[in-house]
Amino acid sequence: MARKIIVSNRLPVKIKRTENGMTFEPSEGGLATGLGSVYKEGDNIWIGWPGLYLEEESEEQQVITELQKESMQPVFLTETEIKEYYEGFSNETLWPTFHYFSQFAVYEQDYWEAYLRVNQKFCERIVKVANPDDTIWIHDYQLLLLPSLVRESLPDITIGFFQHIPFPSYEVFRMLPWRKQILQGLLGADLIGFHTYDDVRHFVSSVIHLVGLPASNGVIETGNRSVMVDAFPMGIDFDKYADTAHSEKVAEIEKTFEEALRYRKIVLSIDRLDYSKGIPQRLRAFELFLKQYPEFHEQVTLIMIVVPSRDQVEKYKELKVEVDELVGRINGLYRTLSWAPVQYYYHSFPFEELSAFYRMAHVALVTPMRDGMNLVCKEYLASRTDGTGVLILSEMAGAAKELSEAILINPNDVNQMVGALYQALTAPEDTQRVAIASMMATVQQYNIHHWVKLFMDRLAYTKEKQNELI
Ligand code: UDP
Repeated sequence: MARKIIVSNRLPVKIKRTENGMTFEPSEGGLATGLGSVYKEGDNIWIGWPGLYLEEESEEQQVITELQKESMQPVFLTETEIKEYYEGFSNETLWPTFHYFSQFAVYEQDYWEAYLRVNQKFCERIVKVANPDDTIWIHDYQLLLLPSLVRESLPDITIGFFQHIPFPSYEVFRMLPWRKQILQGLLGADLIGFHTYDDVRHFVSSVIHLVGLPASNGVIETGNRSVMVDAFPMGIDFDKYADTAHSEKVAEIEKTFEEALRYRKIVLSIDRLDYSKGIPQRLRAFELFLKQYPEFHEQVTLIMIVVPSRDQVEKYKELKVEVDELVGRINGLYRTLSWAPVQYYYHSFPFEELSAFYRMAHVALVTPMRDGMNLVCKEYLASRTDGTGVLILSEMAGAAKELSEAILINPNDVNQMVGALYQALTAPEDTQRVAIASMMATVQQYNIHHWVKLFMDRLAYTKEKQNELI
């Protein structure tokens, strides 16, 4: 029977070492939930790195056995491989380049070679388990070479690829020394998906210029196969966010938070610490807002949740210092005995507390410099239990293409952000309700389950079309 095989850098599992051995906990990210309907069925599986280093074979065996119960298969990576392939090439070369921060990109031959080796390692694992009539769905920028590697061993297998981060303009992409190999790696897939049509355009244009293949209407002709490229904007598990926000427990947490914050207006900001998120720019805009509108002093609080991320990388360490200093400066300038303008948290929150923040925020301030999609803004919309609220959203987030009723801003334009904050904090309730209702309906309809189905159906259709032509 034909199976479906999901492949990503990380498996959706948290494995911890304790005194009594290892513990296994599924990690319930949006992607894991959406793909649950795929990999947990029948003999389907998810292949990826389990997230820890193992030295002994007995430990590896234990991990293999435990993961098998959850329909997962591990690819074990060494510390050096993670350093060079993941932290190095993926996060210090591809991540900055694909987010238009080429000035931060490291071009290191050793990293590239490790990236190739690890992609080959993933390929070996797949080839061991896959049959020619299986369908493989590969995820994200850590595995760009994998589609072609798998294709070499299994020429007729169905391969889908989805990239969760942006694909940059050809002019930016072409700065990568390994640009052609990367494109050729991807072209092993039958269907390549991105979040937006702009990403699709950029990818197709890079293929035309750098590989020299003809393309029209989102179909690239490789000579012996047609590769389809299309936009599939990813959604969230809407019901999970809406149900949690409507729960008694979250209402209780919200009440406690509101009392502590003295029922002030709340502007909410949530991101991983990353230069692509525009955190310093957002803080500067809030600072200027407080300067220009003193009537809002003591009336509004910015809750800024920053989740630690990649803190071994120099650029991220520098960003942390910058954010710490900006928050210190703003609070130092404007705080009073009973009010801190910025409530800054440098840690993650449990799901229900996050939900309470979404529920209580009058304004969500989501202003990345560049983001493939951005899920925080969709989670905010799904959590608006009373139908009010305002979303300020960067044009540079993929989500802006779907959420046009948000107040859209350019994150480089500090004055525009200040104006947006004023507009949001003074928006009449009926205006808020109209925009929220419309955007909430979009997020509800195009949820994660819809996204998975759309991609899988299109992949099957793409293969059918190819077979008709043979
Ligand atoms: N998030 C979380 N814990 C927190 C804060 C945020 O799990 O304390 C989640 C948030 O709910 C969202 C994700 O982190 O699902 C961030 O996704 P997004 O697409 O906005 O940005 P990314 O970090 O993937 O670039």
